[in-house]
This record gives sequence, structure tokens and C-alpha cells, in this order.
Amino acid sequence: MSDNNVMVVEDNEKNRKLMRVVLKAKGYNVIEATTGEEALNILKNQKPNIILMDIQLPGIDGLTLIKQIKADAVTKEIPIIAVTAYAMKGDEQKILDTGCEAYMSKPINTQELPHMIEKYIKKRQENHEQT
Ligand code: MN
Repeated sequence: MSDNNVMVVEDNEKNRKLMRVVLKAKGYNVIEATTGEEALNILKNQKPNIILMDIQLPGIDGLTLIKQIKADAVTKEIPIIAVTAYAMKGDEQKILDTGCEAYMSKPINTQELPHMIEKYIKKRQENHEQT
């Protein structure tokens, strides 16, 4: 499989492991970052096909990080799925306003996760074929 690099930005070890196990089982290559700072460093050298972004992170929070990635010409086309522990009224719009493609709530739905990843990687490929 090509176009199979997923970057997981998640400080919680259990959640990170869950996403890694589920995605590896589906044939994805998982690049892990535990903080926003680490994610930005990785993005200097690697361009994943999609990013799973935890919103609640120590240091730079996920929302700020998404805005930074979407403001950078080199990384702005990478699809981002935000992952949030809680969604209060108005949060959904706040999250989508950052420019990310979608968001999902914790606890992680292990069936939905690979479907979402596949969907948004495909969507990006189709957009590329059109242009
Ligand atoms: Mn977190």
C-alpha cells in the first residue's frame, strides 16, 4: 500500500497504542508524536498522508497546531482528523474552524477509525487527480 503514512499526535499512551495497533493491523505505517512540538519537528522531514490530532495536548494544544499546519504551504494539504475527549456545544464548530477535515470523539471507535483514515486519504487523492 502506498500513501499509507499516518501521523498520530497523542500524549496519552493508551490511546496512542490503541490507534497504532488498529492502524498497523490495517497496513498503515504509523508515525507517533506525543506533543505538538514533536509533531512540528517530524513535519520538517516527513510528510504523512494524514494526521490524527489529539486536541488536549501539553504545550502547544491541538487546535493551535492544526492552524499552524494549515497555514504552512508545505503541510497545508495534509488532511487532519481532530480527536477530542469531550465535545461541548460549540466545540465542533471551533474545531472545524481550524481548517481540519473532520473530527472524532473519544473513546476511539476502533471500527470507525480506519474507515475515516481511508476516506480522507482517498478524498485527498481524488482532489489531486482533478487538478
Ligand atoms: Mn491528550
